[in-house]
Amino acid sequence: MTSIAFLGLGHMGGPMAANLATAGHRVIGFDPMPKALATAREHGIEIATDSITAVADVDIVITMLPTGGHVIAAYQGDGAHTGLLAAAKPGTLFIDCSTIAVDEARTAHDLALAAGHRAADAPVSGGVVGAEKGTLAFMVGASDEDFESARPILEVMGGRIVHCGGSGLGQAAKVCNNMILGITQIAVAEAFVLGERLGLSHQALFDVASNASGQCWALTTNCPVPGPVATSPANNDYEPGFAGALMSKDLGLAESAIELTGVDAQLGRHAREIYQAYADGDGARKDFSGIINTIRAQSADA
Ligand code: NAD
Repeated sequence: MTSIAFLGLGHMGGPMAANLATAGHRVIGFDPMPKALATAREHGIEIATDSITAVADVDIVITMLPTGGHVIAAYQGDGAHTGLLAAAKPGTLFIDCSTIAVDEARTAHDLALAAGHRAADAPVSGGVVGAEKGTLAFMVGASDEDFESARPILEVMGGRIVHCGGSGLGQAAKVCNNMILGITQIAVAEAFVLGERLGLSHQALFDVASNASGQCWALTTNCPVPGPVATSPANNDYEPGFAGALMSKDLGLAESAIELTGVDAQLGRHAREIYQAYADGDGARKDFSGIINTIRAQSADA
């Protein structure tokens, strides 16, 4: 049994922490939202009075927070509040599973090491369903030794654990994958709207492209029109799934990485603009495949 502090018991962190408790680990949780605490308690998680108390005597600290700003502020604390790094016992393994920028992940990692701890960035894909089922994919940035320490705990919450390299490279893999996803979802949506204008049925285009070189996850799993894939959000008025606000956030992280590296990623930047506008409108809480409705609405009358 490992003692684990779990901070951030929201949509993702709640079920991830519950799976650790179900597997027999001692999980001490904290979240400022009372509702999240009440649900966590029902799933066998010990509730701490605050995050500092939660981390005081554990082997591992897992964070699942909204942004990199939240992670670094929690690690460091401020003038008035002690940070997690100062409160934990030396040698604690800090695993951050939030989706944050590569440079923020490296900063968090460096701060942890400077405070005498160990660290890994381990963002996930698989969404709330994957968190509940314990089938998340983890992309891990850590030294070989710290990866091996984190692996048995990540295996409780995930189905696929990939060691991507050292500090920040888990986040790098996540940002690159989601940039592909954002671009391809737009491409598939544009193709369906073009097909509509040309008189092509949705099913005919799906039957061809899903067995040809247009095949991709955005088509065969997250098909943006109702019908061809019964489980895609398009069949349920674009209920997420993966919300437009989260895709906009992830493409913002991709854009930061593009700027940091100087890569000529024109489609990545354009996808960021398209999803930012979608999330600023009514797409924030809709699945990101609903971008097809924006494309249809913005298309000129033929
Ligand atoms: P969420 O908003 O549901 O949960 C975040 C929780 O963190 C909230 O309950 C909040 O109260 C809590 N929190 C904030 N500051 C805290 C602190 N200092 N200490 C303890 N708790 C604190 O968000 P989520 O959907 O669970 O996403 C969490 C992270 O996972 C994000 O970085 C997101 O981008 C990433 N992610 C989400 C999904 C998804 O489908 N929801 C998929 C993959 C990755």
